[in-house]
Amino acid sequence: RSKGRRKAISQIAGTQPLSLDFDYLKKSVSEQFGSLVFDEKEMQKRLPQDIFLRLQKTMKEGSPLDLSLADIVANAMKEWAVSHGVTHYTHWFQPMTGSSAEKHDSFFDLNKQGKAVIEFSGRNLIKGESDASSFPSGGIRSTFEARGYTAWDARSPVFLKESCGSMTMCIPTAFYSYTGECLDRKTPLLRSLDVISKQSLRILRLFGNNTSTHVKSCLGAEQEYFLVDQQFYLQRPDLVNTGRTLFGAKPPKGQEMADHYYGPIRARILSFMRDIEHQLIRLGVPVKTRHNEAAPAQFELAPIFEEANIATDHNMLIMETLYGTARKHGFVCLLHEKPFRGVNGSGKHCNWSLSDSEGNNLLEPGKTPHENAQFLVFLCAAVRAVYKYSGLLRVGTATAGNDHRLGAHEAPPAILSVYLGSQLNQIVECIISKNEQSNTKGETIQVGVSSLPPLPRDATDRNRTSPFAFTGNKFEFRMVGSSQSTSPAVFLINTVVSESLDEIATILEAEVAKGVKLNEAVQTLLQQMFSEAKPIIFNGDNYSAAWLTEAAKRGLPNYKDTVSALEQFTSEKNIEVLSKYGVLSKREVESRSDVLLANYSTTIRIEAQLVSNIGRTLILPAALEYQKQLADNILSLQNCLGKDCCIAQKQILEKAIAHTNKLLENLDSLDKAILMIEDEVKISRNNPAKNVSALELAKLVRDNLIPLSEACRQEADALELLVDDFLWALPKYRELVWIL
Ligand code: ADP
Ligand code: MG
Repeated sequence: RSKGRRKAISQIAGTQPLSLDFDYLKKSVSEQFGSLVFDEKEMQKRLPQDIFLRLQKTMKEGSPLDLSLADIVANAMKEWAVSHGVTHYTHWFQPMTGSSAEKHDSFFDLNKQGKAVIEFSGRNLIKGESDASSFPSGGIRSTFEARGYTAWDARSPVFLKESCGSMTMCIPTAFYSYTGECLDRKTPLLRSLDVISKQSLRILRLFGNNTSTHVKSCLGAEQEYFLVDQQFYLQRPDLVNTGRTLFGAKPPKGQEMADHYYGPIRARILSFMRDIEHQLIRLGVPVKTRHNEAAPAQFELAPIFEEANIATDHNMLIMETLYGTARKHGFVCLLHEKPFRGVNGSGKHCNWSLSDSEGNNLLEPGKTPHENAQFLVFLCAAVRAVYKYSGLLRVGTATAGNDHRLGAHEAPPAILSVYLGSQLNQIVECIISKNEQSNTKGETIQVGVSSLPPLPRDATDRNRTSPFAFTGNKFEFRMVGSSQSTSPAVFLINTVVSESLDEIATILEAEVAKGVKLNEAVQTLLQQMFSEAKPIIFNGDNYSAAWLTEAAKRGLPNYKDTVSALEQFTSEKNIEVLSKYGVLSKREVESRSDVLLANYSTTIRIEAQLVSNIGRTLILPAALEYQKQLADNILSLQNCLGKDCCIAQKQILEKAIAHTNKLLENLDSLDKAILMIEDEVKISRNNPAKNVSALELAKLVRDNLIPLSEACRQEADALELLVDDFLWALPKYRELVWIL
């Protein structure tokens, strides 16, 4: 039974790092950067000056695209693509499936005379039509036509994707239904960018900035991932089908020695990383950081932050590239939030900030009292928004996979709180208590008059346990899962912060109009708003049990799992803020909630099926065979030595029998629950009157399949530690995470 495992080990032992022979090593990174992107340089070269300037305006400010431009731009793009040997193009979009989607069309066409031509029109560039019926829509589409449309997002550049020597021109697009509702992750993000820009500008104008034309929200997403050798992977049906191990006893050595984090990167891994970087650099993704992460076989890649829409597209490309390139190196890249129990899972820290059109970071405390005051306003808006909408922000991190991670002493709990660091906290306390004496240096804090002390930005003042930490000039949202799109996290932050900025601006504008001095109005407002939002500020250890009690006392919500997080997604308050700013309509929120709940239920149902399959066909047979071995052994020994021998052997056999019986019992219960849920689904499909809602189904799944699957796993993992290693087919944790 364990032949496959053993063969894999010996083959991996002989695997050499893939030697890389590409331009990256010969040409400088700056030469390579963006060489597969239709970027500003390329546009300027290929477009008439006036067209170039108009397109730039659209791209930078998100102003509406002038349709008369499209044909000219499309032609230039085609020529550029063809010069790279491209034959096909695709609208590249991000449906609610979790990955990106593409449908390739050739530039090749037949003209009226039946002659072959190479064609790419403005119409092809701007709009695509596709059958959307197989994409999740949460019921938006079912009552109408199945048609879906894709529309060019001119704010994100067109790029060329290379695979097996063939290149495809990818046009980032939004995806929406026949009735105009969005069916993707990009659209709400784009909408939120406009909203936060508009509201931030109002604040900037109050502070006398009349030159900035727009405000960008910026994102730097740190991507964690695991690599396992393909040969092990293929022998783990759970990894292949669900991206995580559903069984596996804790390895004797996990991350306890902390010897993997920041450790020297081994040659085979480094070769993979360089390959990734080479591809991403050419795609214009500014990859910067690479290192070993905390868990064995876990790594991280971080790009330099960018405007959030582009950073989100780039994160999709990062995930695709990681996934695709791993195979080439004999690995499989696991982006699941918790591939292995007992070692850390993977997150995607989203570093978020705002920047004006001149590139000034609005979360930078600044040097002058005036800058400090403006900074405090933006800080306050963010803190208040997290306080008021912590439940909504939690939605952006809610997936079946991430449920294993949040609150598991490796990632923040499911409770949102804001970390400010001791110095900034003192300043806020000082504002709240109207105490104008800052504790630090005895200076007075009068907003707009006194200077803030410089805030430390180094690691010493960092709190790694906080879900939403201010790290000097940005917030780091640490709850997002490694496989998730960064779009929901960012569009939700943008929306709720916009609401705060809107309210702040409205009050300040009115006060100033009444003749109140801006500084004084700001001081009063900050005092009120920080006092109100104070319960969300927490600078202690978010992993501690004491915090759970304290957070409950403060009335902070704790949505422990995806279902409870999504249950309140559609609350009146959440729908109101999303629809008020035009980010998601009520119908879009409701449909999205259904899609996310269905995704959750389907994930757990697939996992439960696999637990049953693997439990019955891989684990149970090994356990039974081991029992036979033990029984045969006991019988032979008793023949030689008499009935009273073999006490220890009998004990092992009894233990094996006990676990096997329990495993069987649990598998039976699990199968019954799976059938019960299948019946519910069938009944509601056939009889709409007895429809089980997406929420009800998710609850059934959560409350039945998860505990029963877990019960099966416990017995199976106990058997793994008991049964003869030669009988165990599934590669073990100690091999999966350490042999690569
Ligand atoms: P750490 O792991 O120590 O938090 P990393 O270097 O891995 O830091 O990642 C930090 C991320 O934050 C990078 O993507 C970086 O570009 C990004 N970042 C830095 N400054 C800003 C900012 N002003 N706004 C958004 N992201 C930022
Ligand atoms: Mg990092």
